[in-house]
Amino acid sequence: MFSNKIALVTGGSRGIGRAVVEDFRAKHATVYFTYHRHEEAAEETVQKTGGHKVLCPQGDAEAIERTVEDIVQREGRIDILVNNAGITADGYLMMMPFDEWNKVLDTNLNGAFRFAKAVVRPMMSAQKGVIVNVASVSGLVGIGGQTNYAASKGALIAFTRSLAAELGPRGIRVNAVVPGFVETDMTARMPRQIKQQNLARILVKRFGTPREIAAAVSFLSSEDSSYIIGQALVVDGGLTSTVA
Ligand code: NAP
Repeated sequence: MFSNKIALVTGGSRGIGRAVVEDFRAKHATVYFTYHRHEEAAEETVQKTGGHKVLCPQGDAEAIERTVEDIVQREGRIDILVNNAGITADGYLMMMPFDEWNKVLDTNLNGAFRFAKAVVRPMMSAQKGVIVNVASVSGLVGIGGQTNYAASKGALIAFTRSLAAELGPRGIRVNAVVPGFVETDMTARMPRQIKQQNLARILVKRFGTPREIAAAVSFLSSEDSSYIIGQALVVDGGLTSTVA
């Protein structure tokens, strides 16, 4: 399905990003993925998938430009960008140092801006391309203790729509996937009680798997979604579909 496609996935060393790399590789794409701190996990993704790892922090604008330039120089283009890398630093606003606010915004939102900006020029030259941003239901509904994360993900959804309006006429499709709770390292550190409360609200009574999110990313990256532009596809086991 992705034969001859060149994909760049941010945060592919673990969790959802790794599942996206696996999915794309299984569909025969050439895949580059970034990581920041977990070299061993990144190497494991390489061994499992045959993807290419690139150490590239979301906060390092120069490294991001260099990463995109290197891939374009080597492969001639980038067909798919998945802005997946993200962090949480939960805490009540009263106690939140500005640094914690800023770190989450910079990683989740500014990082996505930097990567999108870097790929837009080569995609415009090619007059085609796909960008999929991985947001969160925290960007849609209120979740206490996540003002920083919610602000980053709500903004990422708004960013997706406006960028889609800019790039749609140029043959570049931009969409977002909006996961609910997913079994990854990010949710593994969630306190048991909070986990139970969240499980009770999910219609299917379980967290999603990285593969279930990767399937949505893969669909929005493929020609099967050629008429879908500027949308935010919620994949949350029904969490936000009802108030009951
Ligand atoms: P995860 O397991 O914690 O993995 C995060 C990935 O992002 C890792 O590959 C990590 O690289 C990379 N990353 C983090 N900070 C980075 C930085 N500053 N520079 C470069 N790479 C960085 O997270 P996940 O659960 O798979 O989440 C993936 C995305 O889905 C995130 O955007 C998250 O907000 C979103 N999401 C997750 C859930 C969930 O329940 N898990 C729900 C909704 C949305 P290293 O391995 O090097 O640290």
